[in-house]
Amino acid sequence: MSKKMIITIDGPAGAGKSTVSKALAKKIGYIYLDTGALYRALAYKALKSGIVLDDIYALDSLCSESRVVLKNVDGQMKVYVDGEDVGNKIRTEEIGLTASKISAFAVVRKSLLQLQRETGVNGGIVAEGRDMGSVVFPDADYKFYLNADIEERIKRRHNELLSKGETPDLRSIRKDMISRDKQDSEREVAPLKPTSCSIIIDSTKLSVREIVEKIIRQISEK
Ligand code: C5P
Repeated sequence: MSKKMIITIDGPAGAGKSTVSKALAKKIGYIYLDTGALYRALAYKALKSGIVLDDIYALDSLCSESRVVLKNVDGQMKVYVDGEDVGNKIRTEEIGLTASKISAFAVVRKSLLQLQRETGVNGGIVAEGRDMGSVVFPDADYKFYLNADIEERIKRRHNELLSKGETPDLRSIRKDMISRDKQDSEREVAPLKPTSCSIIIDSTKLSVREIVEKIIRQISEK
């Protein structure tokens, strides 16, 4: 593994992408790029500014006026919007759903494309999202698509929220996840789907360690 590769990990919400990508990047000494955080950062700003979320002109202005920046702080990528570190404000279900809504618009996706590509320009990156292998890094060295049964994904999200001290409602998690899956995979621009050369991993019955090991085995074969 001498070459600094681009490794992409796409998949639906709750499939384990973030945990796996983070662990993989740490293990092989790569940068971890969480592109969902960029869409969430714009969603945070959209909610804060009170724009109508499907008003394409308002979204266009929002994107051209907002300065979304990634900074490497002690080896960790932090997201800033107009100078504000939004890291711990963007992890709510409301922001996830809003990100899903606005990310269906080409103008929003286009505004974040260059930033994502610049981050991967020297390789050595594990890029996680929905369209990493299909749009952002079509020439990536390895493209993985992580999936899991919806019930397992709901259970994971429920446990994640419980561990944060929240009191999540299973029914609303299910409703939000189904709606996000539908929005992300049925949109016209950059829909969520594996590419023809993606390596598909079903994470339903696998631990994070097992998935990371599976990926490392694949990328070490080159
Ligand atoms: O991965 P995460 O849940 O943080 O992403 C939030 C939302 O941002 C997703 O539901 C998806 O609609 C959008 N997204 C996207 N393309 C990416 C990453 C995230 O459309 N590359």
